[in-house]
Amino acid sequence: MTWRIDSRVEDLLKKGEDLAGLEVEEAVHLLKIRPGSREMYALMETADRISRRQFNGKGELHFHIGVNASPCPYNCRFCSLTVEAGVFTQSVEFGPERVLSWAREGQKQGADALNLMSTGTFPLGKLLEIGRFLRDRVSTPLVANTRDLTHEEGEALLEAGFVGAYHSVRLGEGRDTPFSVQKRIQTIRVLRDVGLRWMNCVEPVGPEHTPEEIAELMVLARRYGATYSGVMRRINFPGSPMGDRGMITEMELARMVAVSRLVMGDRVKAHCTHEPNVLSLIAGANLLFPEVGSSPRDRKADTGKGRGTDLSGCGRMLTETGWDPGMPSNCFLPPRA
Ligand code: SF4
Repeated sequence: MTWRIDSRVEDLLKKGEDLAGLEVEEAVHLLKIRPGSREMYALMETADRISRRQFNGKGELHFHIGVNASPCPYNCRFCSLTVEAGVFTQSVEFGPERVLSWAREGQKQGADALNLMSTGTFPLGKLLEIGRFLRDRVSTPLVANTRDLTHEEGEALLEAGFVGAYHSVRLGEGRDTPFSVQKRIQTIRVLRDVGLRWMNCVEPVGPEHTPEEIAELMVLARRYGATYSGVMRRINFPGSPMGDRGMITEMELARMVAVSRLVMGDRVKAHCTHEPNVLSLIAGANLLFPEVGSSPRDRKADTGKGRGTDLSGCGRMLTETGWDPGMPSNCFLPPRA
């Protein structure tokens, strides 16, 4: 039997295989590949192969710890932690000792990073305090996931022990959120200027997003030098204002993860997917986020008791798909000269 695929797709897969990175129009072409087609499996196979080679088989576990669940007045439409969603009517803060016990558990179970997430109005000073507290007690690298930052605030994160920050221009930024794309990009510049590693994901993808807007954000991650990128789908929590738009399937997510992997070329240290799923781990992703504490996708204040997948569950997904979570992380190596 002859195994033929569309010749333009074949050319783009070759370019992806050479780690040259893809431009917006090229990514759009691949994002239009039909789920379940031969082209889709060829795309996923190529992304998987280059990731295994480039990341040397390492599976990454970056442990999300949401430090507070407060009704957030910014009201991003995809988030369950908003005033408008009405899920959380009172503030819940997980204190330093609670966060420390999660952090120690993460360290014990081989987490490669601790991603400390706070809601939009959580005082940065408190996050800095948590950073200093953890820095002296655990050796796992600290990554902040917080609001937009000035240069002074970025430097304060570094001083408090953080080595990186997760930040993204979300799909629908400025439409489904009150923040401007320019402001989000300015924070990404701040991270680079002060020497914090920038961690990114194209998110939260729903069926209404066009290939063009998804591809723009994939390419932005390469242009601004993300340590890792990847794709997260939107989760419609019960009562979500975006519930009527539906959700993409895990198969569609894996197809997008593969496109994003080819877009990123040779500059990345890992490639992520969220929520944890197995298909993406054979489509170029090697990084999962186990979760505890608050989550913008959950109705429970501690997602460890809700939707969140725990460290051992994520570790199992990695090993079942041939990734080794026991190796040292590639994400915190010194930058290439
Ligand atoms: S995504 Fe962040 S800023 Fe937006 S509503 Fe949720 S917690 Fe607030």
